Amino acid sequence: MTSGPDGFLWKDEPWGRSLRSATLAVLADHLFTTCQLRLRGVREAEEWAAVAQALGVDSRHVARLKQVHGREAVVLRRGAAIPSDTASRPHADIIATDDPSLAIAVQVADCVPLLMAGPGGRVVAAVHAGWRGTCAAAAVSGVEALEKEFGARPADLVVAVGPSIGPCCYAVGDEVLEQFEAAHENAARWFRRDQDGRLRLDLWTANVDQLEEAGVPRASIRLSRLCTACHPGLFHSYRRDGPGTGRIAAAIRARPGGW
Ligand SMILES: [Zn+2]
Repeated sequence: MTSGPDGFLWKDEPWGRSLRSATLAVLADHLFTTCQLRLRGVREAEEWAAVAQALGVDSRHVARLKQVHGREAVVLRRGAAIPSDTASRPHADIIATDDPSLAIAVQVADCVPLLMAGPGGRVVAAVHAGWRGTCAAAAVSGVEALEKEFGARPADLVVAVGPSIGPCCYAVGDEVLEQFEAAHENAARWFRRDQDGRLRLDLWTANVDQLEEAGVPRASIRLSRLCTACHPGLFHSYRRDGPGTGRIAAAIRARPGGW
């Protein structure tokens, strides 16, 4: 392991490097993958099996979603069956479980991946939040799912915010600001305008602010501040590389024996 920003650690896996939050790792095993895995195309199944292996679960025990840029949460209680094929994956952007035999995962390529764990790592959640998801407060939906379904208090959660597009690289149109302003008080604090008039959105601060407002202590939120678009050779980026780009997996597993 080598050190990264804000207590994140790089680990060498059989296939390349992964990123973990040291703070979150105390509670639950998890990882963010790098560009050595594409997680698409002909090697997709094989590469997701490598993600499963990194978290010590069977390759059939990785629960994933058909992500739709919203705030719907899927809750998999211990022993629940998981969809085994792509077509039957639930349409949602948040997944939560108390089942330590599962790894739960979201996939991103610039959107913000958040991984969460409750006390003792006995409940975990993964959240996909691009601009639409952040506007819809998907991170808050993850916090609410853990509290409502499993009784984990927001004050006791630890959250890691993984690699995603930074305010350095995320120019957006005025219609994005308008949608945020319609949904959030003071949404303008998450935007700034360049000297050339272009609007930039800071998804990192928006997600951290929303988590704090939902009751997660700032000290329990770890923000990698790694911009996917700024780091070719390390991360996939939709903005930089276009729709053919690979995906970053953000996956987490509840602690076996965490009860
Ligand atoms: Zn950047």
